[in-house]
Amino acid sequence: LAQLYGPLNTLGSTYRSVNQALIDTEKLLALLNEPTDVNDAPGAPDLVIGNGEIEFENVNFSYDGRTTALDNVSFKVPKGSSVALVGESGSGKSTILRLLYRFYDLKDGEGRIMIDGQDIRNVTQASLRRAIGVIPQDSILFNSSISYNIGYGKFGSSSDEIEAAARSAQMHERIMSFPDGYMTKVGERGVRLSGGEKQRVSIARTLLKNPPILLLDEATSALDTSTEKDIQKALQELQVGRSSLAIAHRLSTIATADTILVMREGRIVEQGKHADLIERGGAFAAMHRDQSLTHGSEGTATPDRTSPPEL
Ligand code: ATP
Repeated sequence: LAQLYGPLNTLGSTYRSVNQALIDTEKLLALLNEPTDVNDAPGAPDLVIGNGEIEFENVNFSYDGRTTALDNVSFKVPKGSSVALVGESGSGKSTILRLLYRFYDLKDGEGRIMIDGQDIRNVTQASLRRAIGVIPQDSILFNSSISYNIGYGKFGSSSDEIEAAARSAQMHERIMSFPDGYMTKVGERGVRLSGGEKQRVSIARTLLKNPPILLLDEATSALDTSTEKDIQKALQELQVGRSSLAIAHRLSTIATADTILVMREGRIVEQGKHADLIERGGAFAAMHRDQSLTHGSEGTATPDRTSPPEL
């Protein structure tokens, strides 16, 4: 973690590139209260959370002012529902999450992103980020105890709350298998947890944080079937009653999402429920057919990639 302080302190373009390389963006942003290009308007109010309904309204975005990353993207995440983003590499999935988290602000004329009817550009970044939980592909843990790593989600959480969160995240039994239980040190200088275990610690932490909105970036790498099932179960617990937007690679996630958005070259080319999209016989159906043939039902639903996505 310490190695990231240097680059993050160098602002401007470095900030942007490091930003994308950040794995646990949420944690680092909390630690490094650095100014970014995104500024709060003087006297900006806090976001007032109602149901946690998200709306993208004709969003156009370009990172460099020349190439289009998002092209007239409009969709809604109704309260408590789950939306899965699918599409090939570079189609704009991560950009949607980055904009919602306000790594970049839309300019006038580029559309609007609303949460519960408030344009996110007009509210404080701190209040926005309090309302959003991020489950990255690969969580970095603090070099501290498991208890600390989970309890970080909510200031002053009790050991009972931490254990309840770990149980819901399907991590309690694994934690109890360590000689020091919840006091086991993890991270670089402690027990090395697998990717799936780190993700479950991150899910437990987010359960304690209790945000109304979730951003999930699913791992592309294959997990063994039992880990996969544990993570699915943990995520299902987490998603109850929250609005979620997931970059989805697993057919199981995609099949259970309330809405699937199929992205191509910055545009939403199809949207709907799994069964409807299959029936339509379009881009999603073709993608589904190809992947089912090569990977079976537990396989990934997007093409193999050379590098994992970062939020
Ligand atoms: P992946 O599945 O590989 O993560 P994605 O669907 O999440 O891909 P995005 O990362 O949202 O795609 O990228 C959308 C477009 O924006 C791509 O053309 C990409 O090259 C471009 N892009 C992404 N980040 C930047 C950046 N920092 N600067 C310039 N262009 C960028």
